[in-house]
Amino acid sequence: MPEGPETRRAADRLARVLVTDEPVEMHFVYPKLVPWIDDLAHVPICEVTSRGKALLMRFENGLTLYSHSQLYGRWTVNRRNQRVKTSRSLRAEFLTPTHAARLWSATEVRVLSAGEEASDPFLSRLGPDVLDASSTPKILCGQLESHARKSAAHMMLDQSVFAGLGNYLRSEILFEAGVHPDDRPGDLDAEERHKWAQAIRRVTLRAYREAGVTVPRAVAHKGKAAGERRRTWRHWVFCRNELACRICASLIERRRYGGRRLDFCPTCQPSHR
Ligand SMILES: [Zn+2]
Repeated sequence: MPEGPETRRAADRLARVLVTDEPVEMHFVYPKLVPWIDDLAHVPICEVTSRGKALLMRFENGLTLYSHSQLYGRWTVNRRNQRVKTSRSLRAEFLTPTHAARLWSATEVRVLSAGEEASDPFLSRLGPDVLDASSTPKILCGQLESHARKSAAHMMLDQSVFAGLGNYLRSEILFEAGVHPDDRPGDLDAEERHKWAQAIRRVTLRAYREAGVTVPRAVAHKGKAAGERRRTWRHWVFCRNELACRICASLIERRRYGGRRLDFCPTCQPSHR
């Protein structure tokens, strides 16, 4: 599933093509969207952004097209005359004279008015979006402190605590923070919690800027030079289980929490419990 950084990058790609002074040509295929065509077809799109893993396309009349990709949904942006090879089902299509943006297979798609956004059952439950400028390490540290008894492994996927984090970010943030997945914010001292909050912000922003790469560039170059494949050079620990830690050479371990994998270094992330 795309996490916060992938969703924000998709929003940026859509905004570059669709945010203009003119309405763009649209076709809705998904039955839930079809009734909205008359309300949206002649209205320019003024912003495309994300909140956590939800994508929000805002129109000048105050309506917002909300989509959540879940496991199978996907947005594509191509030249208008280019064919897209996919077995997914088309939900909606937005055409400019030069480009085509299309939403495929998502099932969580709806149109919201400005007032409905605040009361939407999904959006209203989200915690601070880690990518937003307002999500400073101080704010994020406050979230850790208000969930002092919750384990790191569980809280890092809870969208009501931190919006936008998912499986790969969870492993990577906990590694940079030096936090064991079973530890809770209450097990750590204030300085350790602050370091954790800084890692949440830093690793997520890096993944956004570097298209899913969570290690600094120098580390990525070293991994590439050693002949690693992308799935392992791009991360510190995620998908590197049974390989040597880049810092201490211990073997990276894999555990499952709620069926979802988490990889960590037992030496760099010692437990306090
Ligand atoms: Zn290590």
